[in-house]
Amino acid sequence: MTSDHGDTRAIHEGQDPDLPFGAVTVPIYQTSTYAQDDIAVPKVWDYGRGGNPTRDAFEIALASLEGGDRCFAFASGMSAETTLLLTLRPGDHVVLADDVYGGTYRLLTKVLGPWGLEMTTCDLADADALASAMRPETRFVWVETPSNPLLKIVDIQAVAALAHASGARVVVDNTFASPALQLPLDLGADIVVHSVTKYIGGHSDLIGGALVTSDTELIERLAFLVNAVGAVPGPMDAFLALRGLKTLGVRMQRHCGNAAAVASFLSSHEKVNQVYYPGLPSHDGHAVATTQMSDFGGMVSFTVASPDEAARVARSTRLFVLAESLGAVESLIELPGPMTHASVSGSPLEVPANLIRLSVGLEHPDDLIADLARALAP
Ligand SMILES: *Cc1c(COP(=O)(O)O)cnc(C)c1O
Repeated sequence: MTSDHGDTRAIHEGQDPDLPFGAVTVPIYQTSTYAQDDIAVPKVWDYGRGGNPTRDAFEIALASLEGGDRCFAFASGMSAETTLLLTLRPGDHVVLADDVYGGTYRLLTKVLGPWGLEMTTCDLADADALASAMRPETRFVWVETPSNPLLKIVDIQAVAALAHASGARVVVDNTFASPALQLPLDLGADIVVHSVTKYIGGHSDLIGGALVTSDTELIERLAFLVNAVGAVPGPMDAFLALRGLKTLGVRMQRHCGNAAAVASFLSSHEKVNQVYYPGLPSHDGHAVATTQMSDFGGMVSFTVASPDEAARVARSTRLFVLAESLGAVESLIELPGPMTHASVSGSPLEVPANLIRLSVGLEHPDDLIADLARALAP
């Protein structure tokens, strides 16, 4: 099955009807081990840590959507990142975007830093800053675009040119855009990271992660580490991830439409100071976003007069649920300062205390705007 269209591949790639019964949906192969044809002669897999047919189907479909040769699924976005970073050695160096996901920063500073990995944060939109952050030992330049929670846009092609010139690989965390809107490997990135928990899963009902790459050396190393480290998803979560992936294209369309409507409403609201949405022409990254993304995503952040006012608004919405996470059918509201970004408070990644982040869901946009209008009213 091949198609030029991701929407088609998401539904068919790796998902031929099941052989004995013709099940149209890939079954949940809830097994830990497999009967072997003879001693040390497995049919396909010998043990569930190494592989599982439900997980295989999800990996094949996501690899195809990202345009990569191979995908590895993980139990969480963080375990995908950990396994990727374990391909490095003590003494190696990583350059991180200065507004990278807080969990990634924590993993490097609190877990892999003491273990021996070196790290520098830098504004990846600034070519000079990146050039001076690079060292001979730099192995990865870690990009997140759009970033969290300020929706900063990094030019993937420009970063890839610079990183490759000094022999480093480019990692792109594509969680916010998803392959429905942005294909980092086509733009020169070497590895795509996902928190499958977010848009790919799409229904706030699983924790999952993934890596996608076409780099043969990395594929070999990761295939070994997946089994050796064992941070793999169970069959049920692989099934939910694959089910989410099938509707990613249509969901992203609605997320983008709703977020654009919400961003435009907030931009003209007297109690809103600044709106961060890459679809707004006033956004710093708008021009680059227009070239590397097919639409601008479902995340919108904005500031209000004070931290207290931000807290009041976040407590006052009725449709927008006060919760961490993002990318699902229901709209969520949160304060990055005390919630998702609490682990980076006091670090260079600290975010404004009067900032509110919205994950705009799939409800009718009129209802979402009415909810925000009511919450913002005094
Ligand atoms: C949530 C998230 C992660 C971590 O993924 P988990 O599935 O929560 O482990 C990494 N990167 C980004 C951008 C995220 O939003």
